[in-house]
Amino acid sequence: MPFLGNARRTFAAQFFFNNMNKRGKNPPNYCSFCGRTEEEVMILVSGMEAQICEACAEKAQDIIDLELDNAGVKRENRRQKPEPQPGSGKSERFGGPIHLIPPRDIKTFLDQYVIGQDDAKKVLSVAVYNHYKRLQELEKNKGKVRKEDDVEIEKSNILLVGQTGTGKTLLAKTIAKLLNVPFAIVDATVFTEAGYVGEDVESILARLLQICDQDVEAAERGIVYIDEIDKIARKQDNPSITRDVSGEGVQQGMLKMLEGSEVMVPPQGGRKHPEQKMVKVNTENILFICGGAFDGIEKLIARRVNTQVIGFNKKSTARIDRDNLLQYVTHADVKSYGLIPELLGRLPICTYLEPLDLDALRRILTEPRNAIFKQYQKLFAMEGVELVIEPAAMDFIAETALEYHLGARGLRSLCEAIFTDAMFDLPSTANHAEKRQMVIDRDYVAEKLEHSRIGRLKAA
Ligand code: ADP
Repeated sequence: MPFLGNARRTFAAQFFFNNMNKRGKNPPNYCSFCGRTEEEVMILVSGMEAQICEACAEKAQDIIDLELDNAGVKRENRRQKPEPQPGSGKSERFGGPIHLIPPRDIKTFLDQYVIGQDDAKKVLSVAVYNHYKRLQELEKNKGKVRKEDDVEIEKSNILLVGQTGTGKTLLAKTIAKLLNVPFAIVDATVFTEAGYVGEDVESILARLLQICDQDVEAAERGIVYIDEIDKIARKQDNPSITRDVSGEGVQQGMLKMLEGSEVMVPPQGGRKHPEQKMVKVNTENILFICGGAFDGIEKLIARRVNTQVIGFNKKSTARIDRDNLLQYVTHADVKSYGLIPELLGRLPICTYLEPLDLDALRRILTEPRNAIFKQYQKLFAMEGVELVIEPAAMDFIAETALEYHLGARGLRSLCEAIFTDAMFDLPSTANHAEKRQMVIDRDYVAEKLEHSRIGRLKAA
């Protein structure tokens, strides 16, 4: 370490010392610098006899930069990691053959992260399984001439209808985690028809390319979640003289991409321009999942269901659950809402997410693998405090989220309001030698919420 200054040397020495103390020589499966285990870090890079985690690697880079600065080595003369050229990347993360996972196993995996939503999980599991079966088939038949009578399995893009905060994005994200394929989330509201202010729809694929380091092959097997698809619904009251550039125009723009074709993508996203180098991406094997809240669609469903009552089948409608009309959603309702039939044709699978009730909200607090409570318990445990939450306190939080219509997203804000004071004080009073316990009961929750900003919602 020729340039290593005193402070930096202390850093390195201290980490080395910690490591030797805690683990002995040549430790496996934990960072050789800070001693954190594989479970505690995100990435562990292995060397000959040592490992380094992402945080220590970053710190090491800072040290190198500082020392090279001090030594007067110009930044442009240093070894730089070449930027991947658009479309030329090779993603190590997403390479390898496709492993088919049966729908039941996909659902079991989803169950660990997403509470309820059984219908959506089932539909998604089957759709994703079939999609990857189709990919496998295509890979097997690569280079072979297709027979006339061969049945071709078509792409099964998915439409998720459900109130905001019910788990649409979470479902899509969790599936991508399981399949280890590139996954991009985009918001449909940022796009406009070509030629107008906004982004071109092709930049949806640019996001996917960026996620897999410009590896086109990996991107071509990815999953894209297009959120807020309901916001590009055709504007019903749109006078014919003005073009609906952010609504129907965008839907038209998406058709080719969703169907499966070769799309020219501006690698940096945004708006295409003539001098730009474009990357060709084939979307035939990209799975598109579109999600939207479709506020007010229940009225359209009710209208359709009622017409059916009068018209044909009086008996079957007696069983209709009018409190949860969303479960009867069909393409017809989404079309009435303002998505064009051509787009719906490219989203052949339509499913719904249930509104979250009290029981679901309560379970979300504790049951998912990275449930909110588990996260707080971990934070407190780091301060040497065991956090115990009484069932009545949990009920109160779920009841408040339901009462204020905060949904699952609101649970986090409520927990922040409840635990902030304790998290503020604990680090100053922590005594790691002593085992401590903090029990949260209903009164504690009520008191904290009453004095919080979120508690003022009640007064409002
Ligand atoms: P949206 O339906 O608007 O896409 P999200 O999936 O983004 O909603 O949900 C927001 C957050 O709420 C998630 O990150 C998750 O923490 C929580 N959440 C929502 N629904 C569920 C659910 N069914 N199970 C577990 N957590 C959920």
